[in-house]
Amino acid sequence: MLQPSDAPEQSQSLPSTFNFLTATQVVSTTLNCTTSQVTCKASARSNSMPSNARYFRNDAPLSRRDPHKQLIASLTRLVTDYPPASIPPGGGLYFGPVSIAYLFFILQPVYQDLEIEGRPMGAWSAAYLQQAQDHMGEYPGPSTRRCGVSDDIMALLALGAALAKDADLAQELCAYAAVTTDPAAGDEWLYGRAGYLYLLRLVRASFATPDVDDDAGKRVRRMLADTADEVVEAIMESGRPWKWHGKAYVGAVHGSVGIVTQIVLTDPSWAPKLEADLGALLSYEFPSGNWPSSIPADRDRLVQFCHGAAGIVASLLSIRQYFPNLHDRIDGAIRRGRACIVERGLLTKEPCLCHGISGNALALEDAEFEHFLTYTTGHEMKGMAKDGILEKSDHPSSLWCGEAGRAWTWAVADRELEKRFPGYNDV
Ligand SMILES: [Zn+2]
Repeated sequence: MLQPSDAPEQSQSLPSTFNFLTATQVVSTTLNCTTSQVTCKASARSNSMPSNARYFRNDAPLSRRDPHKQLIASLTRLVTDYPPASIPPGGGLYFGPVSIAYLFFILQPVYQDLEIEGRPMGAWSAAYLQQAQDHMGEYPGPSTRRCGVSDDIMALLALGAALAKDADLAQELCAYAAVTTDPAAGDEWLYGRAGYLYLLRLVRASFATPDVDDDAGKRVRRMLADTADEVVEAIMESGRPWKWHGKAYVGAVHGSVGIVTQIVLTDPSWAPKLEADLGALLSYEFPSGNWPSSIPADRDRLVQFCHGAAGIVASLLSIRQYFPNLHDRIDGAIRRGRACIVERGLLTKEPCLCHGISGNALALEDAEFEHFLTYTTGHEMKGMAKDGILEKSDHPSSLWCGEAGRAWTWAVADRELEKRFPGYNDV
């Protein structure tokens, strides 16, 4: 059974004697160090860090690495350590072969002349997509419990439609509205309707480019917009607060900020009707600048994209323009959220977009963003692993939980791209 590696229910299932250190305990036991004193920042901390520390103290002076060099290194590790045939099927745009194909798909227009191990971005995208297609028969297909961005069939259809600008594939994707508008379907991004809205938007963007025939493009965009309307109406008719597995999550992956963001990026005309939902979400912020994973609020614990400040800050930055009445509150929330990420965001989990340093970096401004990325190099990760302080990923190759996501952040730094999350707010 597919389980998000980030869900807070994992910690709730730990034995009650399990001792999660509080933030204060962790940082009070870490060493001060500077990059001039040591070659590996993480190693400098390992001697004094308890093995279950959640994050490093962020006390080194701001620094940066050459992002182009790091991008090449990351992509080379990706295709050599995890070649297409080695990637287990499953995971949609979140992990697995489709997620890696999507990384190369979005890098292709930015790096038209770049080759990794002798092959251009487009060829790598096709190779990982082929791996997914070869296993298509093993995918169960969307159900009301699993119909978001992690669904393989719908992600394959969306990427196929976007790549080939294929109206038939777009229509097949739209036909799954029968599943996603079922009253039993979930609303969140990873397994629910909000993720389906993203897939529709991805295809819509590919049919809005100058090389698409006007009439054909209009027809497909109309079909996608009509489908999105039905799905948004189903989400809006869901009772509040929106729930996933019986809990009212707040964050980007399973919660209300992810749902609001996907609706508004798909059709901004819904924003006035979502003002109360967003206002409530802003009110949940802890004094620390972080947000609870779910409501009623529990501990102030996780600072990452899926749960906590990073996903909420990244979402607010994307949708701010559509909520003029909330600008002051949004700006304050972003400022406090970023300060919290700077303080508590250097996580010991393997750096990734969903619950790691790479995703936290994308929520920050340039200097801090580049500083955070210095903790995601191959050298740093080796040092952390050697010292036993790296919590390894279950999906180390993937876009949201591994190397492909780290590569994306280096590309953002290298080409000064907008700090977006592929599969979430990049279209
Ligand atoms: Zn996560």
